[in-house]
Amino acid sequence: MEDIQRPSEPVNCKNFAGGDWLSQSGKNIDVYSPLFGDKIGNFKSSTSDDVEKLVAKASQAYPLWRDTPLKERTQIMFRFREILIRDMDKISSIVSLENGKTVAESKAGILKGIEVLEFALSLQNLDSMGTMEVSRGVQCEYRREPLGVVASITPFNFPAMVPMWTIPIALTVGNCYVWKPSEKTPLTSQYLGKALEEAGIPKGVFSIAQGDRETVEALIDHKDVKAISFVGSTKVAKAVYQRATNLGKRCLALGGAKNHIILMPDADINLCYGISDSFTGCAGQRCMAAAVVLAVGDVDKQIEEIKKRANSMVLGKDMGAIITKEQVDFLQGAIDQAVKDGATLLVDGRNQTADGNLKQGYWIGPTILDNVKPGSQAATHELFGPVLAIIRCKNLSEALEIENSIDYGNACSVFTQNGAVAERVAREARAGMIGVNIGVPVPREPFSFGGINDSKFGHGDITGAHSLDFWSNIKKVTKKWELQKDTNWMG
Ligand code: NAD
Repeated sequence: MEDIQRPSEPVNCKNFAGGDWLSQSGKNIDVYSPLFGDKIGNFKSSTSDDVEKLVAKASQAYPLWRDTPLKERTQIMFRFREILIRDMDKISSIVSLENGKTVAESKAGILKGIEVLEFALSLQNLDSMGTMEVSRGVQCEYRREPLGVVASITPFNFPAMVPMWTIPIALTVGNCYVWKPSEKTPLTSQYLGKALEEAGIPKGVFSIAQGDRETVEALIDHKDVKAISFVGSTKVAKAVYQRATNLGKRCLALGGAKNHIILMPDADINLCYGISDSFTGCAGQRCMAAAVVLAVGDVDKQIEEIKKRANSMVLGKDMGAIITKEQVDFLQGAIDQAVKDGATLLVDGRNQTADGNLKQGYWIGPTILDNVKPGSQAATHELFGPVLAIIRCKNLSEALEIENSIDYGNACSVFTQNGAVAERVAREARAGMIGVNIGVPVPREPFSFGGINDSKFGHGDITGAHSLDFWSNIKKVTKKWELQKDTNWMG
């Protein structure tokens, strides 16, 4: 990561509105690289006036895009895919620069985004809805119609992948899409915007509004923004969901997580690397990261394996950086607190840094806390860093009880060789995504992504077939062209 190209001067991140790259008029926000600790970008936040102008251009573009046949819209998405593959190295490097993850992780995120794009590309062949003669001479037909201008608000932790969960699908079904990237990672949006521009997206169909809370609220409140998708922390997800639904808008808001791994004594030791990789991948800054191991019975040899792998991680090579200095301080404090609460430090990542020119970045090493008490901060709060809490449990019932007691509900995995145990966890865990011997149980397309409880507000999932109904209305058309020869209750 030491050879990641840094811009010669901070990148000024712009809005993309009506096909033009424009400056905004709000307060200045600086962007720092978590890898190097230096300023890499800046932008002015979008005010409600900026949002007004941008949404007006998107609204103007809507009728033409709505009336463009699905197969024609899809052609632009094919070109978008080609450009993303061509520019993969450049975009991954920018994602790593501004987010801190390793280049391999950045690439994996873009590839996952492309997988969602490929799902959207398949709609032209699969989403023909349906028509049927429901009565003699009477036909019923389903038609999928776009909503209009829609907005999507995304977090810092996947600057390319999370927006790519929604961009391809929302655009392909015919909406005009406004993206509000995280203020911590706005640089990637410039590259994705340029890729769509090069692919030939019509002016105003795809827009970018740089900004923070004020921009988000202006987008939600704008009368012409018909639907809002959000991905971020639970506190903000709840606030966004409430604000949007109070205005009668549809909203799908994905929140934070505290994911459990139930580790059984019969777990295959060769698969336990999945647990280490789950809590250290993206330096623990992903909503699918393992946060708590519920250790059932004697699993010391598996824990030894997890510990060995965590200890072997080299910062800046195998594991990336933490998004801000403040978050590093928060994590150090949370580890101190866990120790005060009685936890044993099996692996201590406090005060670790990467070497060379990454020294000034924001770092913390993998940390494993054993004998964590259920109900303590380390057991219940989303820390969002490479910190794994182990809670010792007598049996599977106790492990499930602890898993069920958490408000979040994103993911839960079980490591076992026993099918009945795996099935019980799949049935009884209170999480939207279940893994069996998988540390990060992200469903691959066409299976959809989404949690339950405080990890998601609203219905449906954010990707896959379930996302289509979020981004569209289903119109039902019932037709008769000639006088019926016989009559029935329908007349
Ligand atoms: P965040 O909630 O701080 O910010 C997310 C977005 O909301 C950003 O674009 C930000 O500008 C905006 N925002 C911040 N405060 C706001 C406010 N008061 N009102 C309106 N908008 C506001 O989240 P983050 O720190 O960027 O990302 C990390 C969080 O995202 C973690 O909690 C993580 O679990 C969660 N996440 C969840 C998923 C999922 O699929 N469930 C995926 C990725 C990340």
